[in-house]
Amino acid sequence: MTIYGYHEYPNVLEFDTEVVDSRPGAVLLARSLLHPGGGGQVSDRAQITFGSGVAAIVDVSLESGRYWHVLDSAVEVSGSVHVAIDAAHRLRVAQLHTDTHILNALVFRHFDGALVTGAQIAADGTARMDFDLPEVDNDALRRLEPELNEAIRAALPVRASYVTSVEASATPGLIRSAAVAPPPTSDGRIRIIEIEGLDRQACGGTHLSNTAESGPVRIVKVENKGRHNRRIRLALANQA
Ligand SMILES: [Zn+2]
Repeated sequence: MTIYGYHEYPNVLEFDTEVVDSRPGAVLLARSLLHPGGGGQVSDRAQITFGSGVAAIVDVSLESGRYWHVLDSAVEVSGSVHVAIDAAHRLRVAQLHTDTHILNALVFRHFDGALVTGAQIAADGTARMDFDLPEVDNDALRRLEPELNEAIRAALPVRASYVTSVEASATPGLIRSAAVAPPPTSDGRIRIIEIEGLDRQACGGTHLSNTAESGPVRIVKVENKGRHNRRIRLALANQA
């Protein structure tokens, strides 16, 4: 079985492993530290070095319970490989992902426990979150930007821990998405991300270990999506 280690080893970005299956342009690895994406988060990218060359891993695709690492060319790879995760891409996504938790916490706090109905974190330094907020003025959402940046500057510690799925569903506010709960780990536990003093929720994505590792963000746009949903677009201020 393929073991994914990005939760246990969030700071290890290079590893050696073996190809256990392959087809032109994709490999299955015995072990991988890439985040496979999911829940709206784009996957990690990496460089893979093998016997006769090098290729880029541009996506991770879940097929029948197996994580195929998709390459940028139709090369066929086998044997021992060295993988180096794209650190800049990982950091850009982790910044935005942590910032969406802060935004989510502020919306949850200011707007009476409003739930997330969708989220997407892209490779280009932008993200969007949809909230079930039928009654809210869009300007009230735009005005969250200074508080969002205050929480970033406050250097709040971010920690991961685990609870049982029973405890997760019994704790109000822990499952924050209206649409999907994060998948439990193989032993049935749910991963919890806590931003000290601000937010605690179930999530499987990649995050910073301190909010000040994020640059400042801008709320680029707030728009209506249907009768109930408000969509907030965020961008890292130094990318937009
Ligand atoms: Zn998260």
